[in-house]
Amino acid sequence: MISKRASKFTSFIVMDIMAKTEELERKGEHVVHLEVGEPDFPTPKVITKTAIQALHDNKIRYTHALGLLELRQAICDFYLKEYGVNITPDQILVSTGTSPALLFAMLAILDQGDEVIISNPRYPCYQNFILAAGGKIKEVQTYPEDGFQYRPKDIKKNLSARTKTILINSPSNPTGIVMSKEQLQNVAQFDKQYIISDEIYHGLVYKDRAHSILEFTDKAFVINGFSKLYAMTGWRLGYCIFPKQFSQVMQRIHQNFMISANGFIQWAGIAALTKAQKDVDKMVKIYDKRRQYMLARLKDMGFVIHVEPTGAFYVFADARRFCKDSYKEAFSITEKAKVGVSPGIDFGSGGEGFLRFSYANSLENIKEGLNRLERYLNK
Ligand code: PMP
Repeated sequence: MISKRASKFTSFIVMDIMAKTEELERKGEHVVHLEVGEPDFPTPKVITKTAIQALHDNKIRYTHALGLLELRQAICDFYLKEYGVNITPDQILVSTGTSPALLFAMLAILDQGDEVIISNPRYPCYQNFILAAGGKIKEVQTYPEDGFQYRPKDIKKNLSARTKTILINSPSNPTGIVMSKEQLQNVAQFDKQYIISDEIYHGLVYKDRAHSILEFTDKAFVINGFSKLYAMTGWRLGYCIFPKQFSQVMQRIHQNFMISANGFIQWAGIAALTKAQKDVDKMVKIYDKRRQYMLARLKDMGFVIHVEPTGAFYVFADARRFCKDSYKEAFSITEKAKVGVSPGIDFGSGGEGFLRFSYANSLENIKEGLNRLERYLNK
């Protein structure tokens, strides 16, 4: 028998869309992928070379359960340089991606039945991390005209004696919206327990800059990683920054469940943080060109963009003029126009009527995909 807990885990609808695109491609059809949230760039050479050298140097053993001290120090230096915040290596857990780091943070914070505030819409995996750690989801509705950011009064309404943490994600998947300093301050005022801030899209910002929650409170868990900024999704490397008193428990959790992250990949992580800025700058420039192009075309076609997305690589477009059922519409566009898109409903009921377009694809492919979409809509 499958456990009650496991049977509650939800799946990514975008995976069903990807299965459909695979089926079409097997039949010889050409599909443009605007559904995938994964950089299309190769990993910068300086990072790959470092990993290969580390293998040659036999850096193939377990590391400290919290991660290589050199990498944790590099993360401290990075947060000091970028955000002016002081953290120490004993406040960092390096794991095999941001995803396990988030699961371990939930395990460290939550008791059975504790509540976690998440926005609706949001990244669809969040609810499953909470369930896995025995927590309860408390959804707070957010609105298109606010760029789907929390209204403080709505957070307040949903707080209870069981609220353990509030989850934020900026720049956001699926909306691409970057929280302002004021919006972060507004959330930080609710740090009676802890704020969990998913900062995985930091660095992929095209106007102003992103602020870390650590600039406003130290009662926070920050989740960050290498997948997006350094085009390293398949390498599996991420980390969690936590308040000092969690050091021992995070170490114990990781010792038991992972032992450590991959040694040679952690050396590559140091190269990413210290030697890859030029490569990142190039990628950011290209993403921004694609972003501007995609926004202009989608608006032209009649999609509504309530607040300009200035981060990550997504546009969450209001398609209510064209459709009520985003699930059906995303499949129809995929099958008929041969363009993969993500349905808004994948991100929660608050995303219904929206479609998420990813610009992690070449400008040429984006143009072709949007041409096809335009022809489809004109029919
Ligand atoms: N958070 C968000 C918002 C994401 O979009 C993703 C990847 N899609 C992750 C976390 C997980 O990233 P990873 O495990 O590759 O570090």
